[in-house]
Amino acid sequence: MNTINDLPEAGVTAGAETATELALPESFWDRVEVGPGCWNWTGALSGGDLKYGYFTIWNDGRPKTWRAHRLMWTAANGPIPEGLCILHRCNNPRCVNPDHLYLGDHKDNARDRKEAGHERPQHGGLNFAAKVTEGQVLEIRRLSGEGMSGVALARRFEISRANVSLIVNGLAWRHLPLAG
Ligand SMILES: [Zn+2]
Repeated sequence: MNTINDLPEAGVTAGAETATELALPESFWDRVEVGPGCWNWTGALSGGDLKYGYFTIWNDGRPKTWRAHRLMWTAANGPIPEGLCILHRCNNPRCVNPDHLYLGDHKDNARDRKEAGHERPQHGGLNFAAKVTEGQVLEIRRLSGEGMSGVALARRFEISRANVSLIVNGLAWRHLPLAG
């Protein structure tokens, strides 16, 4: 989980990320304040009004700088399709909680900004969370506890290894009990 040596082309290049499997390094998690609601980024901020977190990953000696929430979404869900953006259900740009992030287009983005300040549904039913049911989350944790590998679990449940890792470590689906 902590190695970044096997990252395939992780990063922001010409608008499209190509990472398919992404392990977030410990130094990333050190900058995340995992809360019951939003997970606030405590590291460096960027953007015109310094509202988004950013994080640099080194791969084969080359730095790639990501917006922190886009990196988290990619780790949880896979590459961001070209032309789409990652939006915050919680209207908190510093938040990197995968359950609060969703894929949208630029129209959604504009609408989101307009609605900023209004309460939006936060329960992670879309994107990441919708890929597995609560029953499957418990099953994944049980099988992992019995020693099934992340690769095998990812294949069986047709989700990414990063998703398996988030589920098994309790970083996603936090309201469900952990195995063993
Ligand atoms: Zn949030």
